[in-house]
Amino acid sequence: MIEVVSESRCVSCNQCVSVCPTNVFDRGDDGIPVIARQDECQTCFMCELYCPVDALYVAPDSEQIIGITEREAEQQGLLGGYREKVGWGKGRTPVASHDYMYQLSKFAKF
Ligand code: SF4
Ligand code: SF4
Repeated sequence: MIEVVSESRCVSCNQCVSVCPTNVFDRGDDGIPVIARQDECQTCFMCELYCPVDALYVAPDSEQIIGITEREAEQQGLLGGYREKVGWGKGRTPVASHDYMYQLSKFAKF
């Protein structure tokens, strides 16, 4: 479940608003997205993956809101944590690149 939009990290690109399949966010007046329909979140992690500055935290629990604050998420290194684990972002290596089938597909002729 989406839990945190970091106001200090957000650069107001609205990528998260665009990619969310269930329209969880509203565009904020100050440019920072607002979690307007949290109960509609499907825990798909798309918003966190597409956030270029690791300003979002999606908790793995899809059923309950844990109510973590931005400060707590920052202190625990949770902001953009899923994105980091899958290797998305500048200077990271996507985990898919370690997959044998992915490597083979680069040589396949279709
Ligand atoms: S995790 Fe998925 S459904 Fe939930 S807010 Fe992010 S993009 Fe929307
Ligand atoms: S994707 Fe990240 S930086 Fe862009 S508006 Fe959403 S939270 Fe802010």
